[in-house]
Amino acid sequence: MLRISGIDKSYGDTQILKRCSIEVAPKETIVIIGPSGSGKSTLLRCVNLLETIDAGKILFEGRDVTRERRHEHLVRQQIGMVFQNFELFSHLSAVENIMLAPVTVLGMSRHDAHDLALGLLDKVRLRNRAEAFPDELSGGQQQRVAIARALAMKPKLMLYDEPTSALDPEMISEVLDVMTDLSAEGMTSVVVTHEMGFARRAADKIVFMDAGEVIVTASSEQFFSGV
Ligand code: ADP
Ligand code: ADP
Repeated sequence: MLRISGIDKSYGDTQILKRCSIEVAPKETIVIIGPSGSGKSTLLRCVNLLETIDAGKILFEGRDVTRERRHEHLVRQQIGMVFQNFELFSHLSAVENIMLAPVTVLGMSRHDAHDLALGLLDKVRLRNRAEAFPDELSGGQQQRVAIARALAMKPKLMLYDEPTSALDPEMISEVLDVMTDLSAEGMTSVVVTHEMGFARRAADKIVFMDAGEVIVTASSEQFFSGV
């Protein structure tokens, strides 16, 4: 589904990513780990076209999305992204945050988008907070709304960039539980996280990055058995 092959990325004179390659098959969950500053977030941002790459290729469903701008809408619609800091629209309620893209991008009727959004709020266990605004929700609840918002575009791939690192400890598991359920249902996912419990539960493969390079790619069994 996603093939990242030999990508390089520099900011000015500093090379951040060095010949990084990762393959993600449909329904797989891949967890990327590694020290702070090793380039994990930059790598996700390259896949999502928030950054351009200097060399290499990124193929999404066989299409070279980094070379051909006409594929950009495909990435916007079919790759969902969840950030560390939720980034919900503060002037919109939870249900309105989720409805926005289906209405404005897909042209869905407000009625259908509302039904879709309520269904997704059910899925992230927040049906009773549909009318709440972001500042009335806990961090863990906001992040679950952000996940529902990404799901509203029916993405084929979900990218998560340290989705729980801005959360108080007691809220981390409610977000990881939702992500674990999605993975178990076959949502293809790439997750940057330090949460090794989640990695053990949900990951098919672990990618370890250091100083801009992919050092190890291992199956979850190999990784956790220490082979
Ligand atoms: P990680 O997600 O593994 O913590 P990042 O991808 O955020 O790593 O960052 C990798 C390196 O790239 C860091 O040294 C960071 O300071 C640098 N970096 C990230 N974004 C930029 C940018 N827009 N301009 C310059 N340097 C950046
Ligand atoms: P993350 O927690 O995802 O690793 P960072 O804190 O490294 O994020 O970066 C947050 C934002 O700041 C990103 O948009 C990144 O591109 C930018 N950034 C990070 N490091 C630098 C830098 N050295 N120079 C300019 N921008 C940077």
